[in-house]
Amino acid sequence: MNSIQHTDVLIIGAGPSGSSAAALLRKKGYAVTIIEKQYFPRFSIGESLLPQSMVFLEEAGLLDTVRKHVEEYAFQFKNGAAFLKGQQRSFYDFTEKFSEGPGTTWQVRRANFDHLLALQAEEYGTEIRFGHEVIAVDVESQHPILTVKDEQAVQYQIQAKFLLDASGFGRILPKFLDLESPSNFPVRRAIFTHIEDGILDDPDFDREKILITVHEKDPRAWYWLIPFADGRSSFGVVAEQDFFDHYQFDDASPETLQATFARILADDPALSHVLRNKKFDTPVRTLVGYSANVKHLASQNYALLGNAGEFLDPVFSSGVTIALKSSSLAVPLVVRVLQGQAVDWMQDYEQPLRKGIKVFRAYVESWYEGEFQDVVFSKTQNDKIRRMIASLLAGYAWDEHNPIHKNAKQRLSTLAAYCREDQPQAAVIGIEECE
Ligand code: FAD
Repeated sequence: MNSIQHTDVLIIGAGPSGSSAAALLRKKGYAVTIIEKQYFPRFSIGESLLPQSMVFLEEAGLLDTVRKHVEEYAFQFKNGAAFLKGQQRSFYDFTEKFSEGPGTTWQVRRANFDHLLALQAEEYGTEIRFGHEVIAVDVESQHPILTVKDEQAVQYQIQAKFLLDASGFGRILPKFLDLESPSNFPVRRAIFTHIEDGILDDPDFDREKILITVHEKDPRAWYWLIPFADGRSSFGVVAEQDFFDHYQFDDASPETLQATFARILADDPALSHVLRNKKFDTPVRTLVGYSANVKHLASQNYALLGNAGEFLDPVFSSGVTIALKSSSLAVPLVVRVLQGQAVDWMQDYEQPLRKGIKVFRAYVESWYEGEFQDVVFSKTQNDKIRRMIASLLAGYAWDEHNPIHKNAKQRLSTLAAYCREDQPQAAVIGIEECE
């Protein structure tokens, strides 16, 4: 092995959390090296952004490049979320939300989106080593060391003053440092692909919103449809593992996965109608058991960003927003470490980040328990409550002024009970607090 190399900050992974952290650190003038095992553009699932993420993209100097390429990559303007269950329909307009901040964003092909962010981070002076894989980690000394395998399978070591793990589902530090902690969600599976959606002039369908469909016969399962601007969509179905038990398929066989996916779609007449002209033309994939957690998110010489830390669930498209928020919170603290200052990572990083994740978690749990579904499809929803819910769906989970965020789980439960009985809801959650 050659002699050890050096940089200021090492980042594992060039997904949204890695590239945004690098861009923010370059603004402060530090030397940043990203080790990324794949070559970009590469496929990644998770195409629906939330308006809150625009704030973090702007802060990192990454918004302009996305904006410039909207047409080229058919990124779809997005202003809300629509819900469908049998004959029931509902939607939330993100521009009519409680929290301040952007109310629109895009639905993006992640291969292009992630590539744009990485290219911009490189333009700002980040060194990205594509095709290099981290195979060992040593954080025992003050300055962490990574062992990396390059494109020719030659190993080398690189040391930094600080290490950021942005390896997503690679979960490098959780695995190497034994930080894994079980998620409190049951094991769920997603089956997904990109399709030609064939939706033309359907007055009931709005391309500017993600469509979340609750399975008509089994409300524990739901489908996402995330349209792009060129007649194509990301399409997926999510359910607990046992939902898929009576289907015969092989995880490694796109053909059997596609046949299964088509059967699951056929079980839902309303969504089948929306997608009556669709064409499956791209290999179908599956992921199982993606929810993950860790014992802690940082120490004195490393921090975990995005999915390398906690991942909840796809249902409210929170992944990229949480990834970008984690970089936004962590980078100023990394800068303080590099300047020789003491940092309380628990107080200044882990607690504030997890505060918003806890709010998202409350909504995800409530969704699968059916309560949030009752709220979403309620016909008598109070306008102010709709705005508060729109804020959460737009990603503003860290807005502590939003009354519905306080004791979110309990408030949703109470709200659901009133929705079921068509009762007035305002007093239930004390919205007079914000009047
Ligand atoms: P990633 O984007 O996963 O990037 C990690 C990078 O690290 C990868 O490029 C990988 O190659 C690299 N890496 C891994 N191991 C190594 C190694 N050993 N050495 C070097 N490099 C390595 N989020 C949304 O916002 N909207 C959605 O609609 C949405 N839908 C989803 C649907 C499903 C089914 C799932 C599972 C997730 C979804 N997500 C969604 C979540 C979202 O995709 C992730 O939260 C997001 O990609 C996290 O970004 P990241 O930067 O933390 O990690």
